[in-house]
Amino acid sequence: MLLLSFLFLPTAVNAAEEGPEIPDYPVDRVADNIYVIHGPVTRPNEKNQGFMNNPGFVLTSKGVVIIDPGGTVQAGEMVLRAVRTITDKPVIAVFDTHVHGDHWLGNQAIRNAYPDVPIYAHPNFIAEVAAGVGDKWVQIMLDASKKQSRGTKVVNADHALNPGDKIILGDTSFDIYNYGVAHTDTDIMIAINGNTALFTGDNLINGRLGNTLEGNIKGLIETDEKVIEAVHPKVIIPGHGSSGGLAMFNYSIDFFRILYKTVGQLYQEDMSDYEMKPKVIKALAKYRNWEDFDLLLGKTISQAYLEIEAVSF
Ligand SMILES: [Zn+2]
Repeated sequence: MLLLSFLFLPTAVNAAEEGPEIPDYPVDRVADNIYVIHGPVTRPNEKNQGFMNNPGFVLTSKGVVIIDPGGTVQAGEMVLRAVRTITDKPVIAVFDTHVHGDHWLGNQAIRNAYPDVPIYAHPNFIAEVAAGVGDKWVQIMLDASKKQSRGTKVVNADHALNPGDKIILGDTSFDIYNYGVAHTDTDIMIAINGNTALFTGDNLINGRLGNTLEGNIKGLIETDEKVIEAVHPKVIIPGHGSSGGLAMFNYSIDFFRILYKTVGQLYQEDMSDYEMKPKVIKALAKYRNWEDFDLLLGKTISQAYLEIEAVSF
């Protein structure tokens, strides 16, 4: 009897440890054979259960390629259900755009369903996750979702990608772009079939102030300008927020262009980062309704100030 209860215990515990399913979200077709599940633009929280990014999937003649399968195992399972509403073809590859766990902890669900699926990411991504960054993200998502992400485990990428790489899967090409540190030091941007669509990861965020504190603001602006110039994408899929074209791109990146320029001007007037905050807020007035504007603006101004100070010496 004792032995039997012991044997049954792990199953019971595992079942209890799995957080609840994430409800199905709409699947948006953004181009031929390219689909995006536009998640909420809020931070990970109890209501969104840790799902708040933009997972994408591409139908190739060989099978399905998933980009950023979400921030929890439950999000990855929801993405797989979404794929099944479009096609019965197997998943043949996963791309993770950068190391922030809200984009890739869903790897686990894809690997569970397709044990041999290759998962592609920047070499720094693979190194940072191997060094333990993923475990921190598992905890961040547990705390933020009030433990609804429980059961989520780290599944690292296993195929390194470098800028200039072209991955061809069936009839579809995936061109990899990176111009140095931008949102993070782990970013890849992925252009599908030339200029058909561009997945930017968090190098572009629409409707929310993205956290640049692990990256470089000037690098972010230059990276975005270079990739648009190189790809001329018809559709741009940001890491968070609605997809769009060049107007959406310019509106979103203008936030950082205006911020960097204003901080630079006020720096020349010998203003401290703290003193300049009200003037920067005024210059960015049209973005006041962006998610996390109040939370992150002060830190982002300080970061721009330090970057400008560093190049001024
Ligand atoms: Zn990010």
